[in-house]
Amino acid sequence: GLEAELMKSFMESGVYRLDQSDVVFIDPVRLLNDSYSRFRLSPSAYYSRHFPPSSTQKRNRKRKRNKPRHAPLNLNERELCAEERHQQVRPLLLNAHRKLLEASQLLRILPRIVESEAALECRERVVNQNFVELGSSWRAPFCEIALCNGVQDEVKNPQGLRSGLSEGRKLVPLFDNIISVESDDDVEAEFQNVIYVLPPKSLFLMSDLRQVRKLIAGDSAEGFNLIVIDPPWENGSARQKAMYPTLPNRHFMYLPVKELAQSDGALVALWITNRQKLQDFVVKDLLPAWGISHATPFYWLKVKPDGSLIGDLDLFHHRPYELLLLGYVNVDFNSECMKTIKHLKESGVIISVPGAYSRKPPLGKLLEEYIPGQRPSRCIELFARELVAGWTSWGNEPLHFQDATYYLGK
Ligand code: SAM
Repeated sequence: GLEAELMKSFMESGVYRLDQSDVVFIDPVRLLNDSYSRFRLSPSAYYSRHFPPSSTQKRNRKRKRNKPRHAPLNLNERELCAEERHQQVRPLLLNAHRKLLEASQLLRILPRIVESEAALECRERVVNQNFVELGSSWRAPFCEIALCNGVQDEVKNPQGLRSGLSEGRKLVPLFDNIISVESDDDVEAEFQNVIYVLPPKSLFLMSDLRQVRKLIAGDSAEGFNLIVIDPPWENGSARQKAMYPTLPNRHFMYLPVKELAQSDGALVALWITNRQKLQDFVVKDLLPAWGISHATPFYWLKVKPDGSLIGDLDLFHHRPYELLLLGYVNVDFNSECMKTIKHLKESGVIISVPGAYSRKPPLGKLLEEYIPGQRPSRCIELFARELVAGWTSWGNEPLHFQDATYYLGK
């Protein structure tokens, strides 16, 4: 019946529509695999996060650390706002989760998608190169990456191939250099004896914030139609160890979002954490500074391989969901192009099993119908840790998840 059809389309696309409205379950591995022809992502490397069962023992430990589980009684003003916001989205999230629990065929196959495929592979643990450290050191200008055929860089190298390299490989500066994959096929690159997989028609700039303006198109008609931003927000709690450097909020006001956007309009997707202080800053200062209109919250609800939420929905400091704010920049709602796309009105919910290393799920396919402008859309991810076919990725470590140990041959 219908469920079998939905399953079939999920196995192919990685997207399962749980509702006519905007509730989808996704398998990020399947979505990311769209980028590659010769490689595919290793599910075990993607889903290597461990989900402890919610046992009473764990709860006791939590209490000892003096963490209130549900909303504490003596909330300050900001916490009251946060709690009120949570109560408002609660029905939407519960309804979305109920829809997932009703999709019995999907639930049956979910543990296998996440776990048993993973168990089949026994690969070495990935030891990542530290691009952040290297890129900010005096060695950065001397770092060169060896690219196979079909890759171009910004710096035109008159010699072309350098001696000592096999046919079809060339060395280009790795940092502060725009590198684009011209090939229609995945290509491999090598840096300090580590192989990286680069998807077709992808482009990246590995640099600090200071250099992001290099990606602004000379002609604004050639700007981006989709801008995904996952900033390194400061966490506030010193206890939580940071996996990457963070920046104070006000720094993000200088991101040239409007300049990167196409003159005919762009969809902006901004990931934000659940901290009320941050949300106040985003609404009051950041969105106006960037010129974003029609801000509409979407939610990413995180589940375990058994379909249950990764944590209690009402746990005050650890919500099992994150916020994705969508909005438009430079759009004219009377223009022809805006008549053909779906407008942002209601909140959507994206459900998935989260990957390891707090990776965000891929958004391109899910947001497609909201993106103004030409097709294929021109898409950019700011603060990216991975590449996507046809996209531009900028950040201080956009090759992070391109390490070949995250991939399998087809
Ligand atoms: N969306 C990504 C994912 O799913 O893997 C995660 C992005 S993470 C929240 C933020 C990224 O911004 C980190 O890779 C961090 O190293 C990078 N970053 C921090 N400070 C930066 C700076 N000054 N310039 C460029 N990138 C920076």
